[in-house]
Amino acid sequence: MSSIDGLPPLRAVIDTHGIAAKKSLGQNFLLDLNLTAKIARAAGDLSGADVLEVGPGPGGLTRGLLAEGARKVLAVEKDSRCLPALAEIAAAYPGRLEVIEGDALEINPLEHLTAPIRIVANLPYNVGTELLVRWLTPKVWPPVWESLTLMFQKEVAERIVAKPGSKAYGRLALLAQWRCEARIVLTLPPEAFTPPPKIHSAVVHLTALPEPRFPADPAVLNRVVAAGFNQRRKMLRASLKGVAPDMEAKIVAAGLAPTARAEEISLEGFCALARIVAAG
Ligand code: SAM
Repeated sequence: MSSIDGLPPLRAVIDTHGIAAKKSLGQNFLLDLNLTAKIARAAGDLSGADVLEVGPGPGGLTRGLLAEGARKVLAVEKDSRCLPALAEIAAAYPGRLEVIEGDALEINPLEHLTAPIRIVANLPYNVGTELLVRWLTPKVWPPVWESLTLMFQKEVAERIVAKPGSKAYGRLALLAQWRCEARIVLTLPPEAFTPPPKIHSAVVHLTALPEPRFPADPAVLNRVVAAGFNQRRKMLRASLKGVAPDMEAKIVAAGLAPTARAEEISLEGFCALARIVAAG
């Protein structure tokens, strides 16, 4: 049976091109084109947008992005076995799909794209987290991208959207929520993938805010948050001791209790403390 784009079903693509999933590349493929279209829609309005897709594999999500109207998709894939399958998609969408063979941790093709730019990826989880942190910490804010729509292990997705007081709340939540709106848009069971991973997955959609929710120097904020959560069971007066001189007074000046623990402190509280630390 042919699909809406006239291309063969993904199972046939995988058979034809011999793309048996490799564990070493974190390959768990999405073969249901209805599902990949749903993820593409979760990425927002794609018409008129350039999309960076990392790890297209046999191209299920790529096809969803193109069918949903992306102006252009630039896809970075490490596994050369996937290139012939991706070339077939490029031929079905003339001029709209460019594929770069390479490691997304080593190349940054964002400069080849034209705003508005959206980033979408179903990546191995460790690569996804590393890239998320890089995308969230560009030299200047706002970043060149408008949104990130990324698949994670559900537990990591929950850490990205976590609120104070929860076990999942920590560095990732603060980093993501300081300058982005972050929400889980889809949760997927293992059976959605071929082969199925051991854990549930979730798609997180992050939209870049024009400016941070609260002012703070990024490096100082990162230092304060890292110290707080490196020893998350300790009270702030102990965990933050080495961050700057007279730390206990600074914690009080920020309106925080020295006896509180990092997981109880809101983003606003951490930013207030980072400003006071930066002021010296
Ligand atoms: N997007 C496809 C899908 O949804 O079916 C494939 C998902 S699979 C979880 C991850 C893909 O990322 C694989 O195709 C793998 O080869 C690719 N990949 C793994 N590490 C990568 C890296 N460092 N840079 C680029 N692609 C990578």
